[in-house]
Amino acid sequence: MSNHQQQHINAMHTRQLTPADDLDTCPLAVAGEQHTDEPCFICTEYASLLDHARIWRRMDGRIIYTAEPYEATALEIAELNADLCRYQLRVTITGDSPWNPGSTFRITVTEDTPTPKKEIQ
Ligand SMILES: [Zn+2]
Repeated sequence: MSNHQQQHINAMHTRQLTPADDLDTCPLAVAGEQHTDEPCFICTEYASLLDHARIWRRMDGRIIYTAEPYEATALEIAELNADLCRYQLRVTITGDSPWNPGSTFRITVTEDTPTPKKEIQ
């Protein structure tokens, strides 16, 4: 593991994330799907967008996927979002990217848990 990778893990650790090395580094792993022997269509189709990808386990045991590309078009992000929505996954974009701060941005994929409906009083 390179120094850069170790620094990345340390930076994510302060965000209460630890590497989930038992899982595929794949957005679909967040939805409980695993590659069989070949990368899935998401990992193939969006390989350049999903740069510096990793899969993490949060303190509460939930799985999240991150990628930290240098740039992307709005269309690439929109297409990834549309594909992942079909798996009930949510895509979040943030500037809090520890890979190369200031030069990359972070794409986070989480389960899209429905917001509880408000009860009518
Ligand atoms: Zn995949």
